[in-house]
Order: sequence, then C-alpha cells, then structure tokens
Amino acid sequence: MQTVPLAPTLARAVRRLTEAGVSSPRFDAEELAAFVLGVPRSRLLLADGFDRDRAARFDELVGERARRVPLQHLTGVAGFRHLELAVGPGVFVPRPETELLAGWGIAEASRLNGPVVVDLCSGSGAIALAIANECPAATVYGVEREEMALAWARRNAESRAAAGDRPVTLVHGDATAPDVLAALDGTVDVVVTNPPYVPDGSTVSPEVADHDPAAALWGGPDGLDVVRRLLTRAAALLKPGGVIGIEHADVQGESLPALVRRHAAFEDAVDHRDLADRPRYTTARRRKLAG
Ligand code: GLN
Repeated sequence: MQTVPLAPTLARAVRRLTEAGVSSPRFDAEELAAFVLGVPRSRLLLADGFDRDRAARFDELVGERARRVPLQHLTGVAGFRHLELAVGPGVFVPRPETELLAGWGIAEASRLNGPVVVDLCSGSGAIALAIANECPAATVYGVEREEMALAWARRNAESRAAAGDRPVTLVHGDATAPDVLAALDGTVDVVVTNPPYVPDGSTVSPEVADHDPAAALWGGPDGLDVVRRLLTRAAALLKPGGVIGIEHADVQGESLPALVRRHAAFEDAVDHRDLADRPRYTTARRRKLAG
C-alpha cells in the first residue's frame, strides 16, 4: 500500500494552522493525525504514514481546523479530568481550567457522607459527571436549559452510567428558576456552576464566537447577570453550611467575591486562582442562620 510519509505531512499541517492563527498548531495537527490513524497521539511517531484515503481525510480536517472549527468538534471528544466526553455543535466545549472547580467540588463532596451535589448550567455534563466519577458516594444532579446541550449531556451521562458510574440525574430547565429542583431546596451540600459569564462585547477567539453556544458564554454588561440570579437559586437549594463554587472570568476576581459577600445568604467567600495564577472561581458557604 502506498503511504504518504508522516513527518512532512505534519510539518505542512503545522504551517497551515500557524498561518491560520491557531494557538497550538503542533498539538492540534498531531491530534488530528492520531485521530485519522486511530492511535493515541503518544504513539503517533510509530505510525508508518497515511494511506491515500487517510491523507485526504487528514488534509480535510486540517482545512477545517484552519477555518477555526474547534479541535474537539473535529475529533468529537473533549477530555475532562478522567473522562472523555462527546461534544459537537450545540454544546460548550469543556475547558481544562474548569477541572479545578470540578476538583474543588469533588474534594468538598468527598468529605461528606452521601452528599447531594447540584451542577447548575451543566452544558456537556462535564462537572456533574466528573463528580459522579470521582466521588461515587455522591448523588449528583445537573440542570441545563438549552435542548441541544442537554442532548449531549444525556449522551455523556448514559455512557458514564454504562461504564459503571453512579447515574447523574439531568433536569431540563432554567437553573435560575425557583421551580427547578425545588424538591431539593434546603438539602443540597454542594452547588457547582460554570455559568455564562463573559462580559458582553469581550473579544473571544473564532472557535468560541462561532462554535460555542452564545447562551453558554454571554453574561450581560459585566458578565454577572446570570450569576446574580443563580446565587438566589443556590441559596435556596443549599442546606445551612452547604457550599457553592462558581467559575468566573479573569476580570471578575474581585467583582464576583464582592457580589457573593453582599448576598445575605452567604459567608466565607474566597477566590481561587488557576495554575496560570489567574483568578478562576469563587467559593462560599450558605449561612447557618436566617438570610
Ligand atoms: N471560559 C470560557 C471562555 O473562555 C467562558 C465560559 C463561560 O462563560 N462559562 O470562553
């Protein structure tokens, strides 16, 4: 079988992606090559090369990536903690930085006996499913309003349940509406949320602007419109002493903790930084007394 050699083909793809302004051209080219060849990226250099069909397929995918279609939409998967989630049009691609918030939720839930955890604005289900995966004692709920996103979450939840994780209950609804999961009011130990928080008018990459759902991104003039409403809903869901973790934008490292501190129901608001030292999420505790 005729083969197209790997190294020069990859080098051309890297040049093409670089020219297109893709931020990690080598990684993306290697991921696409590995995807086409059906091997993990770590084994790519052991491959002989592409046959003609695969070379054409690779070329097509590199072309799409050069037009700034997200890598995860091309491969159909996004890694999140220990999970591989199905993603594509209609759902927000889970980001590595959100693994920190999920890790916080896992640590909080793991301290408790049979914790109840709620993920508001679940998207692909990444946070809820990671918590169910890493904290098997938890009863986990996720809420998502957008039907297309919910369909991806359901698909991911089914495959995690088939893999043996405790099933996550996904609810279709507006996470800020008082009737959604109302039966859980006052009983929840941990609320986690990665809501739409991008301030209107912010510059985002073409991958985000053209492929992540607008409903998952934009949060009004200061980005905190949805968070304001979520705080009220979370205060009702949480039991006294329960905790909340909220992801936020780089520019909200002070404004979000300040918003939480002004809310009568919460105390102990703390902001947390990511590995690049950017402010990334705020946590707080539901007051035990009235509020
Ligand atoms: N962090 C996301 C981004 O970079 C925004 C996520 C959100 O609004 N929840 O686009």
